[in-house]
Amino acid sequence: MNDKQSVIVIGGGIAGLTAGFKLKKAGWDVKVLEANSQIGGPIQTVLSEGFLAELGPNTILETSPKVTQLVTEVGLDDQKIYADATSSKRFLVRDKRPHALPSSPGGILTTPLFSTKAKFVMVKELFTSSWDNRYEESLAQFVVRRLGPEFLAYAINPFVAGVYAGAPEHLSVKHGFPKLYELEQKYGGLIKGQIKGARERKKRQEKSKQAARMFSFKGGLKMLPETIASRLGKSVQKNSRVTDISQTGEKWQVTYTDQVGATGQITSDHVVYAGTAFGLPNLKVNDLPEANFAMFDDIYHPPVSSLTLGFRREDVSHPLDGFGMLIPEVEGFDILGALFTSTLFPMRAPQDHVTLTVFIGGVRQPQLAGKPQDELIEMALHDLKVTLGVSGKPVFSNHQFWPRAIPQYDVGYGKYKEMLDSLETRYPGLHFTGNYRNGISVADTIKNATELSEKLLGIESIPVE
Ligand SMILES: Cc1cc2nc3c(=O)[nH]c(=O)nc-3n(C[C@H](O)[C@H](O)[C@H](O)COP(=O)(O)OP(=O)(O)OC[C@H]3O[C@@H](n4cnc5c(N)ncnc54)[C@H](O)[C@@H]3O)c2cc1C
Repeated sequence: MNDKQSVIVIGGGIAGLTAGFKLKKAGWDVKVLEANSQIGGPIQTVLSEGFLAELGPNTILETSPKVTQLVTEVGLDDQKIYADATSSKRFLVRDKRPHALPSSPGGILTTPLFSTKAKFVMVKELFTSSWDNRYEESLAQFVVRRLGPEFLAYAINPFVAGVYAGAPEHLSVKHGFPKLYELEQKYGGLIKGQIKGARERKKRQEKSKQAARMFSFKGGLKMLPETIASRLGKSVQKNSRVTDISQTGEKWQVTYTDQVGATGQITSDHVVYAGTAFGLPNLKVNDLPEANFAMFDDIYHPPVSSLTLGFRREDVSHPLDGFGMLIPEVEGFDILGALFTSTLFPMRAPQDHVTLTVFIGGVRQPQLAGKPQDELIEMALHDLKVTLGVSGKPVFSNHQFWPRAIPQYDVGYGKYKEMLDSLETRYPGLHFTGNYRNGISVADTIKNATELSEKLLGIESIPVE
């Protein structure tokens, strides 16, 4: 009798690759089926003319030891680079100018980013009682209730555009920002929670997003999915789009189509769906009466364009001494913000040059994201001239359009999570992981995929030394 467990992982993004790698390492028979000719989902890097452009994510936050451990296990420690110390400085635009975000409580009191009235409301937060939790609030409702409208417009609106390409009026505080939600539910307030939460994170060896270090790799983020895929070897099968899943006794059967339309079938003990949320409705499921995948079509994934622009150093008057600049919607620009990518990591631009990565579109202005590259560059140049003093034309440009960039965990998102929870309970052997569940960041997807593999292997999730 063969006791070796087998799994088919649908999707070769970072979630699927992580789960596949962990299970293969534990001796399982693994097949990762990826619909595209490339693995890694949005984690793609282009190197050209001495410039490095990330087409999707630019950084990974080391919020969990599971992220650190994965990098070590795949043998990438010597390629890992942490962001420059200056990247702890972040800029927010107010009155058309970038201002450094205060990094200490004293700095909050003196920053020109917020009015005296807004600062008073922030201090008052310490004494604001908690919510009785009768209905699910949007992030905007939550923030206005605790910190006032100015904080929403000048801090939360640009922050949410930077992380989700989203809008605080739609995103659910409970599902999109569970840690923030927990601060109020568990500790009675944000400031109180920050203090007490830090102690608990220390015990779990986890780091808050503010305290976590940011990293990439010498050759860009694509090194991570590419290295995991090379460790998985023949277990990864590209150009294989899964079309059907069915349960046959205690086994799972998966049907896929390759790039010439030929179909194949594989049977396994487990199936892990690590595809996209918007891919779920296209999956045909047989004999799983409770699987309502059609509902996942309603999860909004706004379009985003990512534009990496290279300039001669002398053509940018701002010192670019930070992580980047976020722009509140009320400031009336076209771009959502810009990352100072050549400040963050070495080898992103040739000597005496800099790179900026600009994002356009999102929930704020979805109609702009799909514009032709020339128009996007014009928009970006206009906004960068006003905010960062960019005077010359770019000497390098790279554009990537993401028609469906990031799933929005909007108010009501709980129904998707409940559906996935109930399917996993109802159909043993069927599992779901990916950025549509419990966090959209690369770090969250790695952590969740690792926890899923630990569950399948029957190991208790223990903190990594
Ligand atoms: C522009 C942009 C910028 C971002 N910036 C950051 C950042 O700076 N930091 C950060 O932490 N995160 C960032 N993110 C988010 C992060 O990159 C993603 O959430 C994460 O990479 C998603 O990983 P995943 O494995 O869950 O999904 P994906 O990477 O989307 O992988 C899913 C894979 O499944 C495949 N697939 C789907 N259906 C099927 C099927 N039926 N059969 C076979 N294969 C299928 C898809 O082709 C895809 O390759 C950014 C995202 C974007 C788009």
